[in-house]
Amino acid sequence: MERVYNFSAGPSMLPLPVLERAAKEMTNYGDSGMSVMEMSHRSKIYESIINRAEELLRELMNIPSSYKVLFLQGGASSQFAMVPLNLFSKSKKCDVVLTGMWAKKAASEFKKYGQVNVVASSEDKTFSYIPELDESKFTPDADFFHITYNNTIYGTRFTKLPDTKGVPLVSDVSSCILGEEIDVTKFGLLYAGAQKNMGPAGVTVVIVREDLIGKQMDITPTMFNYQIHAENNSLYNTPPTYSIYICMLVFEWLKELGGVREMEKINIEKANILYDFLDNSKLFKPTVQGADRSLMNVPFVTGNEELDAKFVKEAQACGFVNLKGHRSVGGMRASIYNAMPVEGVKKLVEFMKKFEVENK
Ligand SMILES: *Cc1c(COP(=O)(O)O)cnc(C)c1O
Repeated sequence: MERVYNFSAGPSMLPLPVLERAAKEMTNYGDSGMSVMEMSHRSKIYESIINRAEELLRELMNIPSSYKVLFLQGGASSQFAMVPLNLFSKSKKCDVVLTGMWAKKAASEFKKYGQVNVVASSEDKTFSYIPELDESKFTPDADFFHITYNNTIYGTRFTKLPDTKGVPLVSDVSSCILGEEIDVTKFGLLYAGAQKNMGPAGVTVVIVREDLIGKQMDITPTMFNYQIHAENNSLYNTPPTYSIYICMLVFEWLKELGGVREMEKINIEKANILYDFLDNSKLFKPTVQGADRSLMNVPFVTGNEELDAKFVKEAQACGFVNLKGHRSVGGMRASIYNAMPVEGVKKLVEFMKKFEVENK
């Protein structure tokens, strides 16, 4: 079987050159005589890998030295607890914008540790848009303000950040990190599971402004304390060593390609190809309109569930896999993360055109 075009929302495609390099280095990394998987996380050679990964990520995202970069475990979902445990330091209040299932899951976890104020929600229309924010509803003394930058399931993204007037802005960037330029200085904290746009599952990146570290709640478990991980260079305990190594390779690949600015251009090109087709199709309809459309996750429907299922099945047979939409939206979703080549999107559109003609 040939490699397919994998439109999975996550874990998702990785760049082929990264996989090939990992294969080549699988049994013997550098002159270590062993696989990265077999290395002590305390060895000099492994330290060079984790340090290089951090250095590359800092360079790619322009992360100032006043921020720590942490490589943790537990997925983005653990951050739903780790963020409030560490950031509820004064009022124990936070503001949230509900733009999807992940935002809701985050908010319900925050509620276990403090007070959650819902500034706005787009649940009334199945999260198909980003709501306008009324600043008079912001909590002036909140400990943080949380948004989900890109909504993986519903295919929306923030294009304008709230002015939180000094309240640290926190964002889940799991499905858009490194896909478009993000001004880190606008945030107190960013977090992302790796398996969408950075590498394999198992590692979660946290980028946190130093002044927000060390004020955790007393009940914070040691492993959930940012300070512990920051002071130990993410080596307090055994980190997900191999996942971090693959991230390093992805970061190198991205740097060679020209960095995030270049990547964003390519992602806009890919998204435009798909949205242009959807906007003009008589069969397929995009579920999100206007400026809030995600560059990474593109949900669409035919309006007929049987036809949707037929499309997903026929697409799969032709090498376009994982196009089934999330159960809460139905229909289809094409996730076109960094590793999806322009060619993959062009070929998908060709296939969709053919399907449309055949199913008039
Ligand atoms: C996938 C995803 C999550 C969940 O990530 P885990 O690493 O599985 O916990 C959370 N938020 C967003 C925006 C996601 O896309």
